[in-house]
Amino acid sequence: MSSIKTFFTGEQQKQIEAAIIEAEKNTSGEIRVHIENNCKGEVVQHAIKVFERLKMHQTKERNGVLIYLAVDDHKFAIIGDEGINNKVGPTFWDNIRDHMSKLFQQQQFAQGLCDGIVMAGEELKKDFPLQHNDKDELSNEVTFNHN
Ligand code: CA
Ligand code: CA
Repeated sequence: MSSIKTFFTGEQQKQIEAAIIEAEKNTSGEIRVHIENNCKGEVVQHAIKVFERLKMHQTKERNGVLIYLAVDDHKFAIIGDEGINNKVGPTFWDNIRDHMSKLFQQQQFAQGLCDGIVMAGEELKKDFPLQHNDKDELSNEVTFNHN
């Protein structure tokens, strides 16, 4: 099994984290990226479990966003917490998902994630502008799970 941690170079991981930091300068929303090899079953349902396991509900405005990617299975999902779902329609993520999907099909995984993060930040700032007392409520580090 290829090591999931080496799927992205150190440089690419830094780029992804930098994109999260940049996006979170515009919004109180908190974006995380979680990477696995495989995703058994339905990807959105699985991403919801990952969201819970990473304790991503622990934001004041319930506006955490998880970008989940299973690299071997070429499955990914973007899910937001209930604070976001209460404000936006079900098509909120469609543009972002379509764009990421295109880049992933071209094997441009790091770029797809970075673009998705930046686009999510742009969308989130409309409903969740940055607050003057902003805290970094959820880690900006990309996390990996061997499975
Ligand atoms: Ca924050
Ligand atoms: Ca953060």
